Amino acid sequence: MSLNEFSLIEHYFSAIGQAGGVVSGVGDDAALLDVPAGQHLVVSVDTLVAGVHFPHDAAPDDIARRALRVNLSDLAAMGATPRWFTLALTLPGADTDWLEAFSRALAMDADQFGCALVGGDTTAGPLTLSIQVMGLVPAGRALTRGGARAGDHVFVTGTLGEGAAALQLFEPSVELAAVVSERLRERFYQPVPRLQEGLNLRGIASAALDVSDGLLADLGHIAEQSALGAEVQLSAMPVAPWLKKLADAGTVQDWVLCGGDDYELCFTVPPENLAAIDNMIVRGELIATCIGRMTTTTGIRCIDGNGMSVQVGQTGYRHF
Ligand code: ADP
Ligand code: MG
Repeated sequence: MSLNEFSLIEHYFSAIGQAGGVVSGVGDDAALLDVPAGQHLVVSVDTLVAGVHFPHDAAPDDIARRALRVNLSDLAAMGATPRWFTLALTLPGADTDWLEAFSRALAMDADQFGCALVGGDTTAGPLTLSIQVMGLVPAGRALTRGGARAGDHVFVTGTLGEGAAALQLFEPSVELAAVVSERLRERFYQPVPRLQEGLNLRGIASAALDVSDGLLADLGHIAEQSALGAEVQLSAMPVAPWLKKLADAGTVQDWVLCGGDDYELCFTVPPENLAAIDNMIVRGELIATCIGRMTTTTGIRCIDGNGMSVQVGQTGYRHF
C-alpha cells in the first residue's frame, strides 16, 4: 500500500459511524469485533458495479447511500440489528471531491442506521463497491426464508413497483414531471431498509425476505425454501396511486410483480399471529398489506379480480 492510499483511507474512511463492540477497526490487518454471548452474527455482502447497478454518472453521495442501504435491507429481512460494515472500494482514480461527497453521505447514513465502518480494501479499477454488513440477532430469533407453513398469510410492507419504475429515470426518451423524478430518484438511491419492521416481526412472522429481485421471484424463494407454493391476489397489491399514472396497467403490474429494487419486506404470518400484525398496523408500527396465502401446491399463482388464475410474464431480475 502506498502512503497515498494510506492517507486516503485515514482521511475518508477511518471515522465513519459508531457502534459498540469494536475492539479494533480501520487500521489493523483485520477488524476485531465483540459478539455478545447469546447473539448470532448476521453477515451479508452485496456488490454494486457502475454501469450495471447505477449509472456511470451517478452522484457519489447517491452511490454511497444506495450501497449501504441495499445491504442493510438484507439485515432487516433477517430481523437483525446493524452493527458494523466493511467497504471494498475500487476507484478509477483518487478524485478528492468525489471521495469527500461519498464519505460524507456514507457517514450520515452510518449514523442514521447505527453502524460503524470497521475495515475494507481500496483498489484502482472500474468503479465498484462491495459493502459487507454485519448485524446481531438473539440466537434462534432470526427471520429466515424457510419457516412458512401452508395457510400462512403473505404480507408485504409499503408499496411496490417504484424501484422498477425508477429505471425510467435512465431512459432518455421518457419525460417525467419534476416531482415524479424526484420521488423515483429517492426510491432508487435512498431505499429505506425496513429495520424496525424486521425487529417487530421477530417471533411473529414465520418467514421473511426483502424484495430485491421482484415480488414473484422473491416470494418464490420463500415458497421453495419452505417446500410450498403461494397464491397472490393481484387486486390486493399495494401500489401508490401516483405510480399508476405513469404507465398503462400492464406495465405497472410488471413493475409491481416482476420489477426489482423495492427493498420492502415480504413475510408470512401464521393465522394465530394475524391479530398481532393487525395491532401493529393499527398502532402505526407497521405499514403492510396482506396479498395472499401459502399453499401446499408448489409454484406461485396470481389470481385476478374474478378469482381466475392468470399468467404473469417475467420472474424478476436475473443477472445471468
Ligand atoms: P492490507 O494490506 O493488510 O489488506 P490495506 O492496505 O488493504 O491492508 O488496509 C489497511 C487498513 O485500512 C485495514 O484496516 C483495512 O481494513 C482498512 N481499509 C482499507 N480500505 C478501506 C476502505 N475503503 N474503507 C474502510 N477501511 C479500509
Ligand atoms: Mg487490503
